[in-house]
Amino acid sequence: MRRTKIIATFGPSIADRETLKNVCEYADVIRINLAHGTWDEDEKYNHKRNIELIKKTSKELGKPVAILVDLKGNKIRISDFSDHAIDLEHGSEIRVVFTKEKETNNHEIFIDAEYCFSQIEVGDRILLDDGLIQLNVKSIDADGRNLNCMVDKGGLLRSNKGFEVEDKIIHRSGLGEEDKRDIRRLAELGIDWIALSFVNEASDVTQAREVLTEAGSTINLIAKIERLEALKQLFWIIKASDGVMVARGDLALESGPGELTGLQKDIIKQTIKGKRIAITATQMMESMISNPTPTRAEMTDVSNAVLDGTDAVMLSAETAIGKYPVDTVKAMHEVCEGAETYQESITKNEEYKFSEINKIDEAIAISSMSIARNMEIKAIVALTESGSTALMLSRYRTNIPIYAFTRNEDTQRRVGLYRGVISYQYEFMVNSLADVIDDVRDELVGSSILNSGDLIVLTSGSPLRVSGGTNSLRLIHI
Ligand code: PGA
Ligand code: MN
Repeated sequence: MRRTKIIATFGPSIADRETLKNVCEYADVIRINLAHGTWDEDEKYNHKRNIELIKKTSKELGKPVAILVDLKGNKIRISDFSDHAIDLEHGSEIRVVFTKEKETNNHEIFIDAEYCFSQIEVGDRILLDDGLIQLNVKSIDADGRNLNCMVDKGGLLRSNKGFEVEDKIIHRSGLGEEDKRDIRRLAELGIDWIALSFVNEASDVTQAREVLTEAGSTINLIAKIERLEALKQLFWIIKASDGVMVARGDLALESGPGELTGLQKDIIKQTIKGKRIAITATQMMESMISNPTPTRAEMTDVSNAVLDGTDAVMLSAETAIGKYPVDTVKAMHEVCEGAETYQESITKNEEYKFSEINKIDEAIAISSMSIARNMEIKAIVALTESGSTALMLSRYRTNIPIYAFTRNEDTQRRVGLYRGVISYQYEFMVNSLADVIDDVRDELVGSSILNSGDLIVLTSGSPLRVSGGTNSLRLIHI
């Protein structure tokens, strides 16, 4: 059983039903990145249709696949090239034009972000596509809207890639109008997670939560940590959100190469301690965009994220536009599973400390784990409404499987992101706990996951079916 969860990004490479199905065999969550694609329902591939396709695929597979939608945030992106990409040669000249026009002629780079041109000066270094491509600003035309640049680091530049200026913060702060509009749309579409891009402070998350609440939605929020600014407020950002993403692509641009690994470790550690979900993202299997096997460095990077304790590892372009999307998720699955066997042997006796314990279900989770560490417990079964007990249980890194039984479909999908948690939809047609235990036995022993007589910990609430009501723990020979 793989405990670390896999997020695969949706895109043209997996947009046909068969491939998507094959990817979902391994992926627990599919991410839709609003930075690419459209809401326009006249287009064949639009976000709404893609969400429906993922839901349908999940049903067909009989597997709860959660949907995470990543908002654009206030990142500046270049416009589309009519040929989708241009090749920039080292030492050549290229013009960057600030204009509302959407599609370029392939000889210039267009950017629809007029508010930032006044901040750019001759000598600035422009970072495109997370710094893969770099330009030097040689001169600026009189009206400031055209930058004449020299290519300092060349390569293939695809449409819609990110635009940053080294050592300058040229973004807007706060939750933008477009993000708010997208949140309202998503509230109606019944997805599971929303990721907020370029979070600067905790109020960005609370603002998004307010928009959701107004729209009557309880979708969970992930704060993407991709600005140094966010690190100053990390504790409060973690507290305000349901999870965070170590968004290494943009974060590395600000942190520099030497700091990134340490930041990843610190962010994951603080997030687990704060009882939230941690996702590690970007370039995890980058070479598999065009190769059928991962590099040794990629195997090690994914493994190290697993050892850092991440809940989930994420694939971006590898599955969205890569040549080998199914091979990539499969390879990631194997690497995670392998890394976990090493981790459990080193963390078996590590006692995890929460920053605070202030709820009954947290106390139950800690007690369960303490018992599970010291006795031959084969599984922890959590009867849960909101998934909160499963979350608390999964904050401990052990090799004991956590089975979350819930009657709530939303909860079932949502816990798909929690490390080590496997969910079952359970209707609670019966009333007594003894009957529930019979059903759990039928499910887990019946499918040979457990053997009859195995010792398990069962957490539940009395009365049953109350959200946040977990208040008891039992040891049962199933
Ligand atoms: P992005 O976020 O893929 O939306 O840029 C992830 C990152 O920056 O690493
Ligand atoms: Mn990013």
